[in-house]
Amino acid sequence: MEETFQKTVERVKKLNLLKEDDLKLLQRVDAASAELVNSEYESYLERKFNDKAIPLLSRYKVMGIPIDRRYGGDGANSLVHCLAMQRFGQVGMGIVTLVDVHQFLGSLTLQQWGTEEQKQRILPEAAEGKSVLAYALTEPEAGSDPSSMASSFETNDDAYILNGSKYLISNGSIAKYVVVFARSKIDGAISAFIVDSKTSGFEVAMRLSEKLGLFTSDTALLEFHEMAIPKDALLGKLGKGLSVAYSALLNGRIGIASGCIGVMEDCLNSCVERAKYRMQHGKEIGKHQLIQKHLAHIATDLESARWPVYLAAIMKDELDADLKNAELLRSVDRQSATAKLIASRNAYDAADRAVQIFGGFGYSILSPVGKHLVDTRVARIYEGTDEIMELKVASSILGKEFEAYK
Ligand SMILES: Cc1cc2nc3c(=O)[nH]c(=O)nc-3n(C[C@H](O)[C@H](O)[C@H](O)COP(=O)(O)OP(=O)(O)OC[C@H]3O[C@@H](n4cnc5c(N)ncnc54)[C@H](O)[C@@H]3O)c2cc1C
Repeated sequence: MEETFQKTVERVKKLNLLKEDDLKLLQRVDAASAELVNSEYESYLERKFNDKAIPLLSRYKVMGIPIDRRYGGDGANSLVHCLAMQRFGQVGMGIVTLVDVHQFLGSLTLQQWGTEEQKQRILPEAAEGKSVLAYALTEPEAGSDPSSMASSFETNDDAYILNGSKYLISNGSIAKYVVVFARSKIDGAISAFIVDSKTSGFEVAMRLSEKLGLFTSDTALLEFHEMAIPKDALLGKLGKGLSVAYSALLNGRIGIASGCIGVMEDCLNSCVERAKYRMQHGKEIGKHQLIQKHLAHIATDLESARWPVYLAAIMKDELDADLKNAELLRSVDRQSATAKLIASRNAYDAADRAVQIFGGFGYSILSPVGKHLVDTRVARIYEGTDEIMELKVASSILGKEFEAYK
């Protein structure tokens, strides 16, 4: 029984949560994903960024899925966006990373926190795919604890002057606009800025290619040297940058978790096919009970992650209608962390079992499941590690006074 994208869409359609426009959008996502498979695979084999992905996604008009229609996007809600990311996940985490950073961490953050002028200037071209967005929080010495960041800014009459570096930035060398975080040299408070990468002093210091996997996604080290950005580049309120950063991650984690559902579906489909035709000891390997055990694990891992992810998306839609509700924000934050923790762990485990089912061919770079294994590992690290997700869930249950870290 193949776990197709169409089956999921049919199931959700029956809940009456999808409108006609949503279905049309998901058809475009499906067609774009089918066409992406070859170039993703070729780029993976060549260990390089897939430069065909953005033109292709733009052609199918799926670069602005959550962006409001006023700014040229589809205005899709979180559940629809989650289903789209699930389909991209079947292709692989390289595409999920590109889309997640551009749409969730970049565009949605700008939509939530930007001024009308910023939104009108940047979002339409982002929705068309004419410009790509990135999100630069991590630094060489500040990962899980962004509040310890060293990047700084000073203020003069008409500009902010930024200095510092940002490490492991997805879309970093291809982005036109980057959401950047830096601390004030006066009071140490962190602010967020939307920075044009053409600004003098903005440097892509290095494209980071020494990754274990995820080759088809661009990752860069950025440096800012006396980079003067206009006052209207401030995103949100001065000194409130961490609120911007954390709200972006709440959204982004749902996207990554959704992508992981797609990874598990693709692993399951590949394994079912393999188990039915690969013969060993005189019968199809699918008739060996221990192979069935692996298949059962992958299938149950998939289903135990699916609902937490959909629930996070549904709760996020509730939050979007009630942004000032602090209690709801805490619940959605916890659900988004829960979804990412479960889905990314399960996806990695599913990919590992899939490699086992494929045997020696599974360990080849030519096998689809081997690609998922190396590409999916990162989902347990970026946008908050497993450990940080666990601490977030625990402190949300125990209460603020039990927070294990600040
Ligand atoms: C391919 C890739 C793409 C990325 N893309 C982006 C991007 O686009 N933008 C961006 O800003 N960042 C990006 N990142 C960075 C990513 O978000 C960080 O790597 C991640 O947040 C972890 O930070 P770190 O690597 O510094 O690890 P560290 O924070 O040094 O953590 C090391 C270990 O210590 C654990 N740890 C840390 N603190 C605690 C604690 N209080 N309690 C228990 N355990 C703890 C961690 O869980 C981890 O196991 C990317 C990373 C990768 C690998």
